[in-house]
Amino acid sequence: MKKDDLVTLTIEDIGHDGEGIGKVMGMTLFVKDALPGDVIQAKIMKMKKTYGYARLMEILSPSLNRVEPRCEHHKRCGGCQLQALSYESQLKFKEEKVRNNLIRIGGFTNPPVRPTLGMKEPYRYRNKAQYPIGVDREGKPVAGFYAARTHSIIPVEDCVLGKQGNGEILRIVLQIMEEKHISAYNEQTGKGCIRHVLIRYGEHTGEWMVCLVINEKKLPCGEIFAQRLSQIPGMTSITVNVNREKTNVILGSHTETIWGQGYITDFIGDISFQISPQSFYQVNPGQTRVLYEKALEYAGLTGNETVWDLYCGIGTISLFLAQKAKKVYGVEIVPQAIENARDNAKRNHIGNAEFFVGKAEEVYPAYCREHGEDARAEVIVVDPPRKGCEESLLEMMCQMSPKRIVYVSCDSATLARDLKYLAAHGYELVEVQPVDQFGQTVHVESVILMQYCGKEKK
Ligand code: SAH
Repeated sequence: MKKDDLVTLTIEDIGHDGEGIGKVMGMTLFVKDALPGDVIQAKIMKMKKTYGYARLMEILSPSLNRVEPRCEHHKRCGGCQLQALSYESQLKFKEEKVRNNLIRIGGFTNPPVRPTLGMKEPYRYRNKAQYPIGVDREGKPVAGFYAARTHSIIPVEDCVLGKQGNGEILRIVLQIMEEKHISAYNEQTGKGCIRHVLIRYGEHTGEWMVCLVINEKKLPCGEIFAQRLSQIPGMTSITVNVNREKTNVILGSHTETIWGQGYITDFIGDISFQISPQSFYQVNPGQTRVLYEKALEYAGLTGNETVWDLYCGIGTISLFLAQKAKKVYGVEIVPQAIENARDNAKRNHIGNAEFFVGKAEEVYPAYCREHGEDARAEVIVVDPPRKGCEESLLEMMCQMSPKRIVYVSCDSATLARDLKYLAAHGYELVEVQPVDQFGQTVHVESVILMQYCGKEKK
């Protein structure tokens, strides 16, 4: 087989990035947009020794799990990878992805992975949208998405994962830009004004936030943006964020409120949270509740426990658990988030949560060294970013031997690596629960219970 050859194959599996996998003459082929069960004709694009990449040319016989995607741009936009796969199969794919990583990377033989907890409606669930702004061929301002693996913008004002109200906000912004000749930022030249429009929505309060990210010190015609955007029912916060760096990081460090408040409020369960443009907040409110309920169940709290919540963000999990624990300590690297966490605790009259700014792998071990036995907790919750936990942190956790470790993970590969360490140092894997926070995409969130059994594997 060589480049440009046409081959016929049956897709048997699905790769970590959602690509179809099949075999031809003993060689493994990866084919984007092909699904397990499809019989396809594909053209070889690139061959390595034992595997290669091919382009889907024709579906000869479609998989029974194929569905009609809701968004016409799903193939070109980098956001969704699984829209053509039935939701039931997506949930199965996520369960298998976690299981495979636990076996392959974690070295577990029969990991207790439960079926993925899915959404009732796997569309329109995102409470946050970040639209890059650019211009079309005629120079007209457009909002949209970057095409997969590129930085060219596909104009789309309505993403089916996001709220319907996003479209109206974008139309107002683009209209003012056109009327007042306000330029869009150009990534290549580093010139132009408006870079991104960040929109957030409080699912339980109906509050809207718009943050315009600009490449200038001041937003031209700020009062017109404020006046027109504030007409939208529920508008609560209009801010401008200044980012003058040539970078693909979206937000800069300085944010100014031009109308209303600098934050919106939302609820998880009975607890209210103030969310500013910079703070991390789970994007799928309904499933966040499901995830936290599971974490709470795994924590097994009776009211007498001390709990550490490492990587606590604005204190969402900490405050959720504080209602059922004696004391909760939260650690988070972003100072602004810890400020939010402390305010959130106060506003909700939660007095048994204490927060520290710093790296989990520094703050927690330092506290343990200083307080010795008094630092001991019954439960440690970790919710790290994709790269997982530092080994030095896991080492200190094992030394302090809490009864239960609850691991909340957004990357099952680093999760598997970290659980392998915990399993080798006295912990038993009790249960793994994937929770679908990101329907239509390949991303998987899961929550895991590890229990102390004292048996070290050498
Ligand atoms: N538990 C929170 C946040 C989870 S996201 C929630 O559910 O909302 C992961 C968080 O870890 C982010 O807030 C990020 O800022 C923080 N973080 C990243 N590296 C860190 C580190 N080394 N130590 C502590 N926090 C870190």
